[in-house]
Amino acid sequence: MAVSRILYDLQNLDLLLDEAKGRVSEIECSLGDRDELKRREEALEELRDRMRDLDRKQRSLDLSSKSTKDRLDAVETKLYGGTVASPRELQDLGRELENVKRNLKEVDEEALENLVSLEETEQQVSKGEEELVREEAAWSEDQYGMEVERRELRTRIGGLEQQRRQVAKGVKAHSLGVYERVRRAKEGRAVSMVEQGLCRACGVTLPTHSIQRARSGDEAVQCGSCSSILYAS
Ligand SMILES: [Zn+2]
Repeated sequence: MAVSRILYDLQNLDLLLDEAKGRVSEIECSLGDRDELKRREEALEELRDRMRDLDRKQRSLDLSSKSTKDRLDAVETKLYGGTVASPRELQDLGRELENVKRNLKEVDEEALENLVSLEETEQQVSKGEEELVREEAAWSEDQYGMEVERRELRTRIGGLEQQRRQVAKGVKAHSLGVYERVRRAKEGRAVSMVEQGLCRACGVTLPTHSIQRARSGDEAVQCGSCSSILYAS
């Protein structure tokens, strides 16, 4: 078999190996990476803090409303209970009653507003908790899937490497050296097909003797223009 054919096979194996090894690296970067989940957890914790604050405020407003109501009852009892006769005092009590009513209205409005926010936040928290449970499950499933894939890829890489060793035995050390050098320089693609007398990698027209040597020789033949190793079928 011509060396160009063997190098072409070798390149195909190397490209498959590059791909499999690249995917293993990708998987290894993603395995154990909980950053996105952690961000979600932190956002949820912030919502919970907000909910607790609103809840505290609600209890305080409810107490405030209750004590204002008590105050209102006390003023009303005094005003309408017939125990106060002085017009001046009755006038003062009337003014106080208005004040307390106004206060109560303000407190109750604020309490209602706060309650709406509290309920909204409670809903957001419970929605966030459900989402987080789903995301954690998806994450675990993903991790498991990646571990299985990595195991399969390692087996595949082992097989390909074994095949590669076999194929490489058919190439002289010098040609193998040329192949490795060109491969490094050309991001994995050292071998170029010859198509209708042209180098497929760079498009230059190749001399006939180069094509003939590429077709049948036992040494690697390189394109004079782009240095690719020529493979003519
Ligand atoms: Zn070329």
